[in-house]
Amino acid sequence: MSAHAMQATTPARTDDPDVLVRVENVVKYFPVQSTSLFRTSREKVHAVDGVDLEIRRGETLGLVGETGCGKSTLARCITRLYDITSGRITFNGTDISNLSRRAMRPYRRDVQMIFQDPYGSLNPRRRVGSIIADPLVIHGVGDSRLERKRIVQESMELVGLNPEHYNRFPAEFSGGQRQRIGVARALALRPKLIVCDEPVSALDVSIQAQIVNLLADLQSELGLTYLFIAHDLSVVRHVSDRVAVMYLGKVVEIADSGDVYNHARHPYSRALLSAVPLPDPNVAKQRERIILVGDVPSPIDPPVGCRFHPRCPKAAQRCVDEEPPLEPRLDDPPSHAAACHFPVADGEDLAAARPTLSADERIVAEPGALSS
Ligand code: SF4
Repeated sequence: MSAHAMQATTPARTDDPDVLVRVENVVKYFPVQSTSLFRTSREKVHAVDGVDLEIRRGETLGLVGETGCGKSTLARCITRLYDITSGRITFNGTDISNLSRRAMRPYRRDVQMIFQDPYGSLNPRRRVGSIIADPLVIHGVGDSRLERKRIVQESMELVGLNPEHYNRFPAEFSGGQRQRIGVARALALRPKLIVCDEPVSALDVSIQAQIVNLLADLQSELGLTYLFIAHDLSVVRHVSDRVAVMYLGKVVEIADSGDVYNHARHPYSRALLSAVPLPDPNVAKQRERIILVGDVPSPIDPPVGCRFHPRCPKAAQRCVDEEPPLEPRLDDPPSHAAACHFPVADGEDLAAARPTLSADERIVAEPGALSS
């Protein structure tokens, strides 16, 4: 039997009872489709580029970053909706990196997703009961229609929906209620991990709080573990035990939630934090606002050294020459790591910082070759 076949049937186990998901040096590249008849593109989008992180049982890990930073791709790698290019993903002690579709089936039950768009993620022509029952049917849970109906109505009740509305269509529910339907669908199989991919971004602010509170209540009631993805640090703050900040395919800072908000070391984390709205207008007026220059560089040709250097107010030559490792900086505890050669100290005025690199020196990698 080949090594690959052996892995598909008897996946390797690694032991650490506190860790539900371990991501080790995970890389996901997408080939760029060439439009030319005579040339084949060898370029790749570096969507996720060497990410290490852990998600512990019962915690919420917030994953934040601008659109296109790779956070949703990473989530899809963890759920194995995407095959990874290299690296290793361990779920509940088992290496699932290269499992076949069939071998993945038991793990798919344990990992569910809640999507951003409560309108687009529900089929408008199907009744809510049958939408929520889908995962049960796919995984053969429930001996009869009646049994499945009972499980579905139980899930609807858990998320605050009236179980009597089992036969209604999605259009008969408000935006917030539709997202509750998405949550009920994710809960139907009682998974161990729920990946929440921008679950409240498309909702009104007043409804966002309801869904966030619902997720928190369900977590304490059912002992769920969440990977909570958002581009908005203000939402993540209220739900996360720990926060990982991503930039151009890499995690640039990870720490307990309070440490990220009060002692962010990476200039990019600081810039994201400076954009979080504050409820007190007087405090907001006094706060330094860090405006990043330029656009996010192309993930096809990411900058050399520190990927943030073309936009960083503290960029220096070392940032171009040497990629900074993700490790504790200044006197931070081992749980707080940042990938920056010149971490921001508490009280440092980043808005006043100026790079010692000229615009010309802020280089990106050579564009990928096109060959015939
Ligand atoms: Fe900025 Fe340099 Fe730190 Fe990168 S390593 S974030 S360019 S100071």
